[in-house]
Amino acid sequence: MATLSLNDVRKSYGKTEVIHGVSIDVEDGEFVVIVGPSGCGKSTLLRMVAGLEEITRGTIDIGGREVNKLEPRERDIAMVFQNYALYPHMSVFDNMAYGLRIAGIKGDDLKARVGKAAEMLGLTTLLDRKPRQLSGGQRQRVAMGRALVREPSAFLFDEPLSNLDAKLRVSMRLQIKDLQRRVATTSLYVTHDQVEAMTLADRLIVMNKGVAEQIATPMEIYDNP
Ligand code: ADP
Ligand code: ADP
Repeated sequence: MATLSLNDVRKSYGKTEVIHGVSIDVEDGEFVVIVGPSGCGKSTLLRMVAGLEEITRGTIDIGGREVNKLEPRERDIAMVFQNYALYPHMSVFDNMAYGLRIAGIKGDDLKARVGKAAEMLGLTTLLDRKPRQLSGGQRQRVAMGRALVREPSAFLFDEPLSNLDAKLRVSMRLQIKDLQRRVATTSLYVTHDQVEAMTLADRLIVMNKGVAEQIATPMEIYDNP
């Protein structure tokens, strides 16, 4: 069964429709990248999947249930943002543990889950630092760690690398690819960077002006651009 289904999803702001009917079944463990120029509707689409934006028409199902009918904490998705959204006064450990603590996880269980995610992301020696004591790449890894510890049924990424410099972007891209290979969690990843899209995606949704112009694998797109 598809983990994540979009069925003729539309979005209007006032009378203006900005997403014109997008449909896709994202398979279990599949990494789908939404790529397209600024203003084409990528983040609006992602925000609807996250339940942060009302769906004007159509439906989005996660694990067979409609997103907009679930309570936020029932949605079982974790989102990684471009601006990291870390808590500045909390340590790396506490930033990563935050969502788990809210879910009632504590003690050794908490420590083990944060420890495991920290190890996967190379953050083990940084757990006591504050975000301001980290580099941009390290901060983005903490943001990913915070999503990873929750072991959600899907990850949503909103341009997570666009605040990093070019060199770091390449290195983080490889780390995300490596992570994807190890955890194989269903992911929806938004970017305007075509290279990033082609390297990371199992399948791509190529958006233009609110329309999904192509939904295909990188190989298919490479052969029929
Ligand atoms: P992208 O993420 O691809 O840059 P967006 O999803 O942010 O594109 O925007 C898609 C379209 O919707 C754009 O034309 C944008 O101007 C419009 N839009 C986004 N948010 C709003 C809003 N809150 N009110 C009105 N129009 C919006
Ligand atoms: P509790 O849930 O028992 O109140 P915490 O939620 O503060 O404790 O932390 C859970 C566990 O993680 C504790 O064993 C604590 O010692 C450990 N821990 C907290 N911060 C760190 C850190 N920076 N590095 C390693 N372990 C930590």
